[in-house]
Amino acid sequence: MAEILVLVDHADGAVRKPALELLTLARRLGEPSAVVLGPGADAATDTLGRFGAHKVYVVDAPETEEHLVTPAVDALAQLAARVGPAAILLPSTPDGKETAARVALRLDSGLITDAVDVTAGQDGPVTEQSAFAATHRVTSRVTVGVPVIAVRPNATPPEPAPVTPLVEKPDIVFGPASAAVTVVSRTARERGERPELTEADIVVSGGRGVNGAENFALVERVADTLGAAVGASRAAVDAGWYPHSHQVGQTGTQVSPQLYLAAGISGAIQHRAGMQTSRTIVAVNKDADAPIFELADYGVVGDLFQVLPQLVEEIERR
Ligand code: FAD
Repeated sequence: MAEILVLVDHADGAVRKPALELLTLARRLGEPSAVVLGPGADAATDTLGRFGAHKVYVVDAPETEEHLVTPAVDALAQLAARVGPAAILLPSTPDGKETAARVALRLDSGLITDAVDVTAGQDGPVTEQSAFAATHRVTSRVTVGVPVIAVRPNATPPEPAPVTPLVEKPDIVFGPASAAVTVVSRTARERGERPELTEADIVVSGGRGVNGAENFALVERVADTLGAAVGASRAAVDAGWYPHSHQVGQTGTQVSPQLYLAAGISGAIQHRAGMQTSRTIVAVNKDADAPIFELADYGVVGDLFQVLPQLVEEIERR
């Protein structure tokens, strides 16, 4: 069976959920081979085997720490040339998309980013993307070279399929492009107790209707009651009420959780671009004509300062 190369996102060996989702999707297409770079890569092996990685390529050379995405590009392109995979899957995150684009260029292959689903087709993997505020689904297939596909986090629930992986430490030659940018320092952002925005099953976002930085405490309360991440519209971020790292949308982060709760957000097209693929969308807005209701599965027309505390109370009661 053809190998499917999966680029693994991890932190010191702790495999991030999007990588497990990619392994789950890869099993539909062939035999998943995980590609893990950086310190702690060895420690990721057990988890990757549990989620069906038949092979794990461990690349822990110092270059993987010292430079940005290019070492991953060298590793994927050289492994692809060696094993002739049926596809290469990466997370559709900013780093993942940059890596995917560079790999596709090196391999002279077609590239698909922001996929929300991947299935096996007669002539290779078939992907789906969501377009025009989730009113259209675009079905695509790469027709040239090895399909390079970047898949959005939360595209599918990760499903275990335990195997004992073969671990290999391939020799990767890091070219001049790998050294073009050197990392000066890395500082872990304080994450607190809440899940990462792109990985969260539930996201609770606040917009201009939240009306002040101090009122985001209410949005955080709802998020904590649901075990959710906190998002914000650009209006809220531009007003300085919440950090840009939490902005959802075209110029922020793109999320695709099981549940997205938008409070005091009108639903501008640029905001939709970042959340329209969420499985279930709930909107709380005092304006019944707000465009967010065109997209929402459930809508509450009301004042968020009345609705959200009642929501917290009800969830805590159950
Ligand atoms: P508004 O549009 O002002 O809506 C506020 C909503 O809150 C209203 O619908 C109102 O009825 C409701 N409301 C007010 N008070 C209450 C209350 N007490 N209870 C309940 N509801 C209440 N935006 C993004 O979000 N993300 C992006 O990445 C992004 N990128 C952009 C890129 C470009 C190039 C451009 C031009 C714009 C971008 N924008 C982005 C901005 C976008 O166009 C909107 O301006 C922005 O999304 C509006 O944010 P909002 O919905 O919070 O505010």
